[in-house]
Amino acid sequence: MLKSPYHGGHLEVIVGPMFSGKSEELIRRVTRAVIARQNVQVFKPALDDRYHESKVASHAGRTVAALAVGSAAEIRAHLAGEGALLSDPGVSSLPDVVGIDEVQFLGPEVVPLALELAGVGVRVILAGLDLDFRAEPFGSMPDLLARAESVEKLTAICTVCGAPATRSQRLIGGQPARLSDPVVLVGAQESYEARCRVHHELRE
Ligand code: ADP
Repeated sequence: MLKSPYHGGHLEVIVGPMFSGKSEELIRRVTRAVIARQNVQVFKPALDDRYHESKVASHAGRTVAALAVGSAAEIRAHLAGEGALLSDPGVSSLPDVVGIDEVQFLGPEVVPLALELAGVGVRVILAGLDLDFRAEPFGSMPDLLARAESVEKLTAICTVCGAPATRSQRLIGGQPARLSDPVVLVGAQESYEARCRVHHELRE
């Protein structure tokens, strides 16, 4: 039976820098729904472009089962069938809750997908970085934040001064990354730290 658009369909977005507890918060919300016997499906972008069973893990070690997908289109295909509309009468059993972690890595098609899911009554919970390593808005996150019914903006702890951290510091060989570096670095020796506005650094 198609879910009514008037019973709970909405968009929740959880954002913040790395280590701010976005995955923990997503896992907390999803686990509560599972305990309440709701039907839940969690997705995350696959780094290797393979569709496979996986899990969302927080830095503190909590996990929840997830499907790794290469694109938003794969999420749609999993839920409704290739190219189908989620509102098609043939789409019979959508989950009550759809969670997506690291949503900033999915392309712009995640926006209409999230809206369509919310429109057919699904509770959509998205977690991701609001800012990239340059502290610029990340991908489709501004769009999702503007359209969400609920937004939770989390902070980590600045590794330099202990203030609330809102940025993700990228370090390459221990040095701050350059402004001109690509947003997604493949195969580089990089690490990240949570930093506040004052201690977030970029090399020219
Ligand atoms: P996110 O998904 O936002 O990267 P996680 O939920 O994976 O965050 O991890 C949050 C956990 O990271 C915290 O509970 C804590 O155990 C750990 N952590 C490591 N470094 C920091 C930091 N600088 N500030 C806060 N938490 C940190």
